[in-house]
Amino acid sequence: MPNTIKKTDTEITSFETEVKALIDTQRKFFYSNATKPVSFRIAQLKKLKQLLKDNEAQLHKAIYADLRKSEFDNLTTELLPLYSEIDYAVKNLKKWATPKRVKTTILNFPSKSYIVAEPLGVSLIIGAWNFPYNIALIPIVGAIAAGNTSILKPSEMAPATSAIMAELINKNFPSNYLKVLQGGIPETTAILKQRFDKIFFTGSPQVGKIVNQAAAPHLTNVTLELGGKNPAIFTKDCSLNIGVKRMVSGKFLNAGQICITSDYVLVQKDIKEKFLTQVVAEIKKQNYSIENGNFVELINDKNFDRIVSLIDSQKVYYGGNYIKETRFIEPTILTNVSVDDAVMQEEIFGPVLPVIEYDTIDEAFAIIQKFEKPLSAYLFSNNSTIKKRFLNEVSFGNGAINDSIMQFTNHNLPFGGVGNSGTGSYHGKFSFDCFSHAKSILSKSTWIEANLKYYEHTDTKMKIIKKLF
Ligand code: NAD
Repeated sequence: MPNTIKKTDTEITSFETEVKALIDTQRKFFYSNATKPVSFRIAQLKKLKQLLKDNEAQLHKAIYADLRKSEFDNLTTELLPLYSEIDYAVKNLKKWATPKRVKTTILNFPSKSYIVAEPLGVSLIIGAWNFPYNIALIPIVGAIAAGNTSILKPSEMAPATSAIMAELINKNFPSNYLKVLQGGIPETTAILKQRFDKIFFTGSPQVGKIVNQAAAPHLTNVTLELGGKNPAIFTKDCSLNIGVKRMVSGKFLNAGQICITSDYVLVQKDIKEKFLTQVVAEIKKQNYSIENGNFVELINDKNFDRIVSLIDSQKVYYGGNYIKETRFIEPTILTNVSVDDAVMQEEIFGPVLPVIEYDTIDEAFAIIQKFEKPLSAYLFSNNSTIKKRFLNEVSFGNGAINDSIMQFTNHNLPFGGVGNSGTGSYHGKFSFDCFSHAKSILSKSTWIEANLKYYEHTDTKMKIIKKLF
């Protein structure tokens, strides 16, 4: 299958035919049961890790070409979390794949009940560009661990990382088991016309809806990892210095191109000035620049222009400068922002941080509730009542108290959104579950039969049933 990214209409038609044939070969391989032995799955996971480790230099080069991401960031935010997911799956897979005994009810005596994790079949994984390896390959770990075959479609907006994943995987894995298809909207549209047993999508809520619609005719199981406007709340009794340090570091990592970053800050009015001074001090301390590797560039001109257009020069408290040639936008703080401002109408996905002040915590929660349910939310506070209220009253996919973005690194926590920010979750055991069907089995003994449930109904049977239940 050609690896070119742009295709003519005729090429798209033949691409579609090839995709269909590819899916047929994957389904055939899946039904051969070859993907199901735990030993096979573990071998594939180890092979994937080794392949990535052996080619780290190429992976670094590609991500530098796409985002000018440093080797340090590539290791810490892409490859090490991925290796850790692989190691964790390898270590636990046998346990996860073993049928789980559960209690049987008296109605079914004598019997055993258990749950069998069954792979779904042929899976499609569609990736986003901002953490191109992490986002594309951590779901693949789940798909392999659960015993599926997979087709991966990375984002065309990060062409070098898409190409290197295609080259490495397509050379080293048989296409009837694991295959990378490259392409943009026309190719993804052609792929989505096909029937899959699982679709795992990471991207925007807008495209998430397209994916859901494409899955509907086939009733395909879908996981959507989307985005939204993530709030970070600072209360007046927070540990300001450490809180600001953690929020700033989470906000400007990857130049703010993170789905779980703090999209905007809600700060209690009594600490607003101190908060802003501390934010600026922290930005200066973290020494953000592309040249020293502490920053990345914005992915493309379209996104650069979009983010620049959200900077209202009247509201710039700090920063606001940008360099078009290198797609660099300085970490920028906006103050006196209102919920009606342009910057509050969409997910920013860049190094611009609007700050909104509030008086009471009810006011802060009401602002959050004006928007769709966010993917993440952060509370910086030492007030236990507010902490409880935050968990009880604010709906969001995942989050942290007195930290930001680090919940992503704990594979014991399911990672996913809620409502407009997504459906389903993954990481660790949750990735295995995400690509499995929990098949329920009641296994009945034959040495005795209780005749209560069978016709013909009698008064005696009725009396016993009433007594028992
Ligand atoms: P996107 O939705 O534009 O693209 C994601 C994928 O969908 C790409 O592979 C792209 O080729 C494909 N696509 C785009 N338009 C399509 C269409 N019309 N039909 C079919 N396929 C299409 O998102 P993006 O710009 O790559 O990423 C940014 C968004 O992703 C943000 O909203 C961000 O919050 C979200 N995101 C979420 C997570 C998460 O884990 N929840 C992680 C990273 C990014």
